[in-house]
Amino acid sequence: MVDLVFMGIQGSGKGTQAELMQERFELFHINIGDEFRWHIKHSTETGEKVRYFIENGLLVPDEIVFNVIDKKMETCPKGFVLDGFPRNIAQAEYLNKHYPIDLAILFLLSDEKSMERLLARRICTNCHADFNVLFRQPKVEGICDHCGGKLVMRSDDNEEAIAKRIQDFHNQTDQAIEYFRKQGKLRVIDADQKPDVIHREVVRVLNERHISLS
Ligand code: AMP
Repeated sequence: MVDLVFMGIQGSGKGTQAELMQERFELFHINIGDEFRWHIKHSTETGEKVRYFIENGLLVPDEIVFNVIDKKMETCPKGFVLDGFPRNIAQAEYLNKHYPIDLAILFLLSDEKSMERLLARRICTNCHADFNVLFRQPKVEGICDHCGGKLVMRSDDNEEAIAKRIQDFHNQTDQAIEYFRKQGKLRVIDADQKPDVIHREVVRVLNERHISLS
């Protein structure tokens, strides 16, 4: 059993990598942004609380985030890959106290590439699969390869909200990254490579640390 955190600026591909870990090693992929979007779609109490923050590219208050994380952890069968959490120092401390991890991996990408990739991102309205008009195009324009659903831009993937998220990443998430670095629990991988190459690096890093994936 292994507990991991995948960190990286928006568009760094950490979600894709977390999915690969789930498919190949059955690690439980927890994507906190998707959790929030699920709550918004189903108009839950949490959804109503977070809607404003998400739509404006603002971080959701920690107390709400911790609640959602706790609920999700209750359903976690074995090892997990956290994606999108922690995003600030208080969240890193919370994680360390309640769900200590084996390793954090930072997928490193420049701000310019982050903006470029997010503006090109398209999401399936039905199954939430992720495409990119620059480098992971669907077979038929605007249609999901997996379920035939309609592909759209995320409402917060506009230039202003992306710029805000990039700024937040440096103002807040950099400190959470530093927190894991100081604990000797951080490894960095260049995210400007093909997903399969990055996946191999992830597995190599875990093997190097003698972290068992079975
Ligand atoms: P993402 O799908 O990771 O881009 O997250 C979408 C939005 O969810 C972010 O812009 C924030 O508004 C919110 N969010 C996701 N993760 C967190 C977090 N760890 N702390 C606070 N807000 C978050």
